Amino acid sequence: MNNIQMNEAESRHKKFLESEEDCDHQYGKLKEYYLGTATGDYRCSNCYAEL
Ligand SMILES: [Zn+2]
Repeated sequence: MNNIQMNEAESRHKKFLESEEDCDHQYGKLKEYYLGTATGDYRCSNCYAEL
């Protein structure tokens, strides 16, 4: 499983929302980190929404 930084996920998710595409969150997930610590959340690897 891949990881992503929380701030990176937020900015990518905003871009996705601006694209006005749909996502069914079936693209796999990314484990969200803040610095070196897992936040306990997961992000969609397509739209970067919290799952
Ligand atoms: Zn998604």
